[in-house]
Amino acid sequence: MSQSQDTLFSKIVRREIPADILYEDNLAIAFRDIHPQAPTHVLIVPKEPIAGLGECGPAQHALLGHLLLTLKRVADQLQLGNGYRVVINQGQDGGQTVPHLHLHLLAGRPLQWPPG
Ligand code: AMP
Repeated sequence: MSQSQDTLFSKIVRREIPADILYEDNLAIAFRDIHPQAPTHVLIVPKEPIAGLGECGPAQHALLGHLLLTLKRVADQLQLGNGYRVVINQGQDGGQTVPHLHLHLLAGRPLQWPPG
């Protein structure tokens, strides 16, 4: 296995470390963030270990749409009718800590703007 496949989130996909999984299909998995920044904090992750949005190109066109629609599906599942925020942290200044592309779904309290 290449190192790029051996990310923390790939280990969750392979059930090598536990997670509170809310949704899964052949392309993506959604699980609760271990350090929630809001009452609802879910990560939507492609099973393919892409390092981040910065590594995406035309080949990921459909996958990126799928991830966004998966996030909406989870939001609907959790009945987040009051609204929510979608975040992708990219790279060092973006605050990315796990080098495996993921969308944050945040909800359950009024969220400040601009973010910190
Ligand atoms: P980012 O800073 O955008 O790379 O986000 C990484 C997120 O992964 C953070 O919000 C962490 O709290 C979360 N995280 C780290 N380890 C785990 C884990 N084992 N299970 C669930 N979420 C995690």
